[in-house]
Amino acid sequence: MDKLLVATTNKGKLKEFREIFKDFGIQVLSLDDMAEKISVEEDRETFLENAVKKVKIYGDFYKMPVVAEDAGLQVEVLGGYPGVYSARFYNIEFGGREEGENPDKANIKKLLRLLEGEKNRKARFVSVVVFYKPEDFGLWAEGYCEGQITQKPRGEKGFGYDPVFIPEGYTKTMAELEPEEKNRISHRGKAVRKLVKMLKKIEI
Ligand code: IMP
Repeated sequence: MDKLLVATTNKGKLKEFREIFKDFGIQVLSLDDMAEKISVEEDRETFLENAVKKVKIYGDFYKMPVVAEDAGLQVEVLGGYPGVYSARFYNIEFGGREEGENPDKANIKKLLRLLEGEKNRKARFVSVVVFYKPEDFGLWAEGYCEGQITQKPRGEKGFGYDPVFIPEGYTKTMAELEPEEKNRISHRGKAVRKLVKMLKKIEI
């Protein structure tokens, strides 16, 4: 395999995928590199179903191997919310965002408001990655990163909820960690490494 499409337009995610695949000699393309655009709605109820939907549609359309991921944050005291709704949490049930406000910032604001005064700040990131080679086969893997939600955002690196997430065993937030360190412990890093191990076994 010399080319792989990572089915995302999220720059933060793409950077992490490129970093993880950099030693494999595979050219990692993103949806932004594809001349003909199609979009897929992530409207399923589980990470796995969303990721499978994406690889199938993109793989069959572009006729090349694809990796898709669906990831999110599960907060214990919120019963696993925002989960599959993590990307647009600010817009679910109540909330919204100010004009021009960055969605990640609006999500964080909503999360911290919901957890105001709450002692149990346990949360975890979940990543489900699915690989699909059209007309051939598919594989999937999952990864978790356990941690705690802070009282205030800290750090400029990473993306999404990183500024309010402290991984277990750390005092820094995910947004204060260097990218290599984040990839070493992150849900995405773990899931992708598991997937790569399986792909190597079958010598694709
Ligand atoms: P997806 O693009 O549908 O998988 O949405 C994932 C959403 O979950 C992102 O928009 C982020 O809000 C959040 N998320 C997933 N992975 C991470 C991460 O590594 N750090 C911070 N937030 C993340």
